[in-house]
Amino acid sequence: MLKRIFLFVILALIILVAILFFNTWKVQKNMRQVAEVQLIETDDAVVQRFSDALKIPTVSYENPADFDSVPFLDFITFLKNNYPLTDSLLDKRIVNRFSLLYKWQGSDASLAPVVFMGHIDVVPVGAPNTSLKTEKSPTELKSSMNSRWDVAPFGGEIKDGFIWGRGAIDDKISVIGNIETTDKLLSEGYQPKRTIYFAFGHDEEIGGRAGAVEIVKLLKSENVFPYYVMDEGGIITENRIPKITEPVALIGVAEKGFISIKLSVDIPGGHSSMPSKDLAIEILSKAIVKLRENRFPAQITPPVAQFIDYITPLMPMPEKLVFANRWLFEPVLLGAYEASDAGNATVRTTTAPTIFKSGYKDNVLPTQAEATVNFRILPGSTSDDVVNHIRKVVADERIRIEKGSFLSEPSPVSPVTHAGFKQIEECILQVFPEVTVAPYLVVGGTDSRYYNEICENIYRFLPVVDPIGFHDINERIGVEDYKKALQFYYQLIKAAGEQ
Ligand SMILES: [Zn+2]
Repeated sequence: MLKRIFLFVILALIILVAILFFNTWKVQKNMRQVAEVQLIETDDAVVQRFSDALKIPTVSYENPADFDSVPFLDFITFLKNNYPLTDSLLDKRIVNRFSLLYKWQGSDASLAPVVFMGHIDVVPVGAPNTSLKTEKSPTELKSSMNSRWDVAPFGGEIKDGFIWGRGAIDDKISVIGNIETTDKLLSEGYQPKRTIYFAFGHDEEIGGRAGAVEIVKLLKSENVFPYYVMDEGGIITENRIPKITEPVALIGVAEKGFISIKLSVDIPGGHSSMPSKDLAIEILSKAIVKLRENRFPAQITPPVAQFIDYITPLMPMPEKLVFANRWLFEPVLLGAYEASDAGNATVRTTTAPTIFKSGYKDNVLPTQAEATVNFRILPGSTSDDVVNHIRKVVADERIRIEKGSFLSEPSPVSPVTHAGFKQIEECILQVFPEVTVAPYLVVGGTDSRYYNEICENIYRFLPVVDPIGFHDINERIGVEDYKKALQFYYQLIKAAGEQ
């Protein structure tokens, strides 16, 4: 009897191992064949124009009082002067004073249009993500140095093979890349069959409510329901995916939601010489600690599952075996993801306390304490789930829980089967033949969130390999990399217009 059980276990193990190896063997690299294309000629003038665009300090500040309209108006004039064909041949509308919407009418009005997005504004030049305004006029900003940068952030310098400046990656490359190549296509007499829109908001970095929201409202009022929408988001990476050494082009098919929750306590204070049992700072601190200790569960959502499926063929052994058998090794996979901050953000709704305020004098017990906790929500969950989770975990009636005013629910997941995804994939492979394309989940937010209302097929990709200085100092792009990006936009606009 014992022998039988032993034999049975051995047999079961052999079958299991066979299944694991069969699944691993089964995954094949997606060797998609694409039509070869003639790449366009790019001269120094295109580089110069991009550098000039970076000289215009279209900065978005958190505090609306810091907003300076001059650079934004300058930027609109810059596009008009430098891209005269686009300006005169496309239907151009200025939305809400500083955002731009161009319409390139296609010859076949029955085809739903494609929307190519970008944003005109940039983050300030100081510390990463700083919202502080430097006390400088736009003209002074252009030449001024920032102590942490190696060049003037708005100098548009071209040196050491790079074009330097705030916005080189995020996101003037999308704006200028699209318009530069559109002007070229127009000069060649190109006429799209499918209508193409270019939509450039001017306040993406502070939420997009004045730009993208208004553009979408306008499109909706005109019954424009795009075939697909393309925005920034993914990139090509050679070193950001552990264990994979080949370049992977990441197309964002979904993005996480965003909500900040204010937690506050209001209790009687008193003199610090006789502290009472319950202190505002203590009550709130405990709540924050509880939230950090009781995180949202880790899980593999559909866009992450798709990402895993696409990149598994590139994995070395034994990781490949683990990735190819997600049904068995999901806990192992989740563990690997949770090990890094970026991985962790991919598999769970994250909890990040960002503001904590209380007290004003060393011998007074504060009656109030308030904290802000920022959550980035996984697709499939909602902001209400976040609030419910907080209530359950904190479980303290004395704490008030309020949703912040800026709220963005996680996006739906755009299909990889849609022609838009295939078209972007094809153009990537034409210009960057060495890469593997994979869908993925964008953990940050983009203006494209507002297009969910009018389109189900939203893709997020920037044709740049491992960009440098994104929201940080010394933002720059290689001259050759910029030209490559132009090749991509040229092919994609043409492809979108033809099919
Ligand atoms: Zn951006």
